[in-house]
Amino acid sequence: MGIDPKFYDNRKIVAGTDAYNIWGPPYAPPTKLGIHGTQVAMDMDLCIGDGACIDCCPVDAIRWIDTPGHPTSARKGAPVNEVACIVCGACETSCPVTAIHITDLEAGYYGHGRQPRRDPTWRAEGAFPPVQ
Ligand code: SF4
Ligand code: SF4
Repeated sequence: MGIDPKFYDNRKIVAGTDAYNIWGPPYAPPTKLGIHGTQVAMDMDLCIGDGACIDCCPVDAIRWIDTPGHPTSARKGAPVNEVACIVCGACETSCPVTAIHITDLEAGYYGHGRQPRRDPTWRAEGAFPPVQ
């Protein structure tokens, strides 16, 4: 089973990085990392770290983060430049484990209307920094 396409209804924002929201539960690092991002939602607990999403993104919206101690892979693609996403859908279709769900936030989300990409309530500078 892949990412829950209705994570927006079934989870809540439980943490965040400088760049994006993290949705849980579950969220208990390092073994449960939740869903990272909103427009570019990536289920880190499904991701196997093959990098297909990073390779195919035309705008460099997804980059590596280190995830030591996670059972499926020690690094993963993450939507660290989510704001650049042009909603092409390439990453969603390339992911071998269906860990990615793309939503056009400009068009609204399940009737909730336009949603912010980043909840300013959560400030966790330095959490999951992208790999340089
Ligand atoms: S939908 Fe397209 S632009 Fe957006 S993150 Fe995926 S590959 Fe990149
Ligand atoms: S394509 Fe899927 S499994 Fe591969 S790194 Fe991206 S999210 Fe992870």
